[in-house]
This record gives sequence, structure tokens and C-alpha cells, in this order.
Amino acid sequence: MNSSLGSIFYERLSRLDQTTLALRDAALAMLFPLECRVCGAMIESLRDGVACADCWLAVEQRMERIRIEKSFCAKCGMPLPPASTSPDERFCGRCDDLAFSVARAGGVYEGALRESVLRLKSQPHIPVRLRELLNIAAASLHEKQPSDSIIPVPLHPDRLKERTFNQAEIIANALSKLTHLPVDTASLIRAEHTEKHRAGMGARERARSLENAFQVRAPRLIENKVVLLVDDVMTTGSTANEIARTLLNRGAQAVNVLTLARAASDLL
Ligand SMILES: [Zn+2]
Ligand SMILES: [Zn+2]
Repeated sequence: MNSSLGSIFYERLSRLDQTTLALRDAALAMLFPLECRVCGAMIESLRDGVACADCWLAVEQRMERIRIEKSFCAKCGMPLPPASTSPDERFCGRCDDLAFSVARAGGVYEGALRESVLRLKSQPHIPVRLRELLNIAAASLHEKQPSDSIIPVPLHPDRLKERTFNQAEIIANALSKLTHLPVDTASLIRAEHTEKHRAGMGARERARSLENAFQVRAPRLIENKVVLLVDDVMTTGSTANEIARTLLNRGAQAVNVLTLARAASDLL
């Protein structure tokens, strides 16, 4: 992990605490052996969650390359094909009209990261690996524009009842521990039940199905604030766009987006 960025937020444990935790995680992994959901190898530490250390290394190296080569959109964070020259900033050309300012993600939605995001839908736990990725992405976003509060993408109440927890809120809480920013679950609600119909929809249909799906309940909490919107995955950006539009209409100063993962561009 990039220590200069990571050290901005990361709650530092003493060396002794870290060693104790690493030993505990390794012992638990031996007692309850789990196979990596990506490659099938044995997982050697609880900190890795559902994937092995090698599969996590692949995620980190891919993200490291993307950062070094600046092969991502400076606004929406979408991975882009490597360029022959390396300009300071590149743009995907598709996100100009999206209402949020900057979006960043912990990594690309594939391999260990994809499996971990899927697991988070059924188990409300953020393993250490995910926290580390979140921390780096949060620091990168903070350099661009500091945020005032965190809002997780809300679930419709019916959906929340089915699921029992909102995975975006679990991520928001983990992020709050890292950044010390408050989590605001009061301002924004999902007024329409749209999630279930969205599989297989094109970007335009998705955007239309989302119109008026979100409402601001407590505008005082967001007025003149830079809001950090948090979700598990960003695909087309249509959900983030719709929420950003809603928040800006009700007085937010700007909206940034942080997700655990970013779906790879179809340009790749
Ligand atoms: Zn593996
Ligand atoms: Zn873009």
C-alpha cells in the first residue's frame, strides 16, 4: 500500500498490536480453513476475507499500474486503456454530464475484489484488505477535494427488510473510522423500489428508471456541504449521478463518490 497516502487516514496500530492481530488471523484461518473463491488455494489469514494473498496481490498490482500509468478517468475513475504518452490527467469522455465532481474506487471489479464485494452482500464485514483499499482511495479523493460527511447509497425500506443490512452503510461506517468523517443516514432516502428491475438494462434505461428514486429528507444536513457518496460498486455511474443531482438540487455544495470497486470499461 502506498504509505504516504495511506498514512493520512489509517488508524495506526502499534507494531505489537499488528503482530498480535496477524497471529490471531493466521491461527483462525488454520482452525477454519477456507478456499479462495477466485483460485481455490487455501486462505492463510482472516485479513484476506474470501480470497488468497496471491489473488489480492493481483488486485493491488493492477490498481498500482493504473495509478502509475494514470490510465483512469480523472473524473469518474473508470479504468482506460494505457496511452502511449502519459498526460497529467485523462478523461473517458462519457462522464462530462454526470453531476458528481470526482469518483474513485478501491480497485477494479474483478478477481478477489469482485468476490469480496459479492460476499459483503450476505455478510456485513469488511476484511482488512478491503479497508486498506478503501483507505488509499479515500486519501486520493481527499487530495482532490476534502469531504464534510459520508452518505451511503440508501436501500429501499422493503429491500432493507429482506437483506437485514445495507452493504453501502457497512462500507460507510468503515470509511468513517478511517477518515473520522460523520456518516449521515438521515438526509437521503430511496423512495422508489428500482433495484430489482435493473439487471440487463442499458445505461439510458437505467437512468430513466432512477429518476426521482431518491429524496432528500433533511436538507439542512447537506446544505453547503461536500458530500462523499459511498457504494459497493460503480458501473455506469447512473445511480451516483441521480443521487448527486438530487443532493445538489437541495443545496449540497458538491458530491464526490467512493466505491469499493469500479467496473472495468468496455473499452479495455
Ligand atoms: Zn486465490
Ligand atoms: Zn469519466
